[in-house]
Amino acid sequence: MKKFACYMLLSVCFNLNHLEAKEANIKHALVAGGAGFLGSHLCERLLHEGYEVTCLDNLLTGHKKNISTFLNNPLFHYIEQDICNLNIPEEHYDEIYNLACPASPKRYQADPLHTLDTNYVGTLNLLKLANKCNAIFFQASTSEIYGNPSVHPQDEIYSGNVNPIGVRACYDEGKRVAETLCFEFHRQHNLQIKVARIFNTYGPKMSPDDGRVVSTFINQALEGQDITVHGDGSQTRSYCYVDDLIDGFRKFMNTEKEITGPMNLGNPTELTVLELAEMIISLTDSSSSIVFHKLPQDDPTRRKPNISLAEKSCGWNPNISLREGLKRAIEYFSMIKEDNQ
Ligand code: UDP
Repeated sequence: MKKFACYMLLSVCFNLNHLEAKEANIKHALVAGGAGFLGSHLCERLLHEGYEVTCLDNLLTGHKKNISTFLNNPLFHYIEQDICNLNIPEEHYDEIYNLACPASPKRYQADPLHTLDTNYVGTLNLLKLANKCNAIFFQASTSEIYGNPSVHPQDEIYSGNVNPIGVRACYDEGKRVAETLCFEFHRQHNLQIKVARIFNTYGPKMSPDDGRVVSTFINQALEGQDITVHGDGSQTRSYCYVDDLIDGFRKFMNTEKEITGPMNLGNPTELTVLELAEMIISLTDSSSSIVFHKLPQDDPTRRKPNISLAEKSCGWNPNISLREGLKRAIEYFSMIKEDNQ
């Protein structure tokens, strides 16, 4: 600890490089997608834990402002690059996190072929790098693996119900093949992998305009605009606050080598989209009305994680209630709304 404090002090005075960090025995993490919603929270957590962090992002859906508070931290490095054309300086990484992919239906469907490339070519590139460094590889997989599930709640044994030719397939099938790549690297090269299936997550730094339900409803409510519920709003989701999710990432990453996942990470509190709209209207004290729009193609009718595996193997459980998490998210979106005025 003393060594680390001394290093931090030195790092403020001198322009540190990777070698110096290595000499100080500081772990180095590469976070692909590190300027995105989850990625930027992860970078911040890792820096807080004393890691050296290299953030890689093509800024397709990530934003420089998400990393602005630690951009000048000497232990933080930022590289603007697409993982499909990975070409970064040779460094040793102890941990590689792959969070690089647009995650909202609106964004991943905007360029479906690039979404597929990101998940196959990009993941393959990062896995090769991890194999070279003997790094632990964390894959941000997704509940979309389960498609429109016929098993409820979804546990990791359920292999899903995905339409391979639908509009969501570029993401769902992309993430499925990315899981396959991880497990083949694990079996053939003995690479340490941690595959997390992330369920709907919300919180500060979500993009206000990426079409995801929580950010969309909060912004509509704050603006007094109509709340656009898709279908009749009876479809369900289970929403996890970002801090809880990042705790899950770190706990999972620190498990024994044998614990590979796939592992569900999410908050099992399930509610309908209509209930979410009503809750947000009430929490924002908004005058907005609810309007009903057409349900998008292949929109899953229900989704709820079974998290017993994460509870058992990582001792992880989400702590932040939806009400509390939404209040924090509302505070964030109100603040950025004021900043934009
Ligand atoms: N949704 C909605 N209105 C919106 C945006 C989304 O009713 O303005 C619905 C969407 O159709 C889905 C749910 O909210 O049923 C969650 O959508 P999101 O895009 O956040 O993520 P998904 O879980 O579908 O990937």
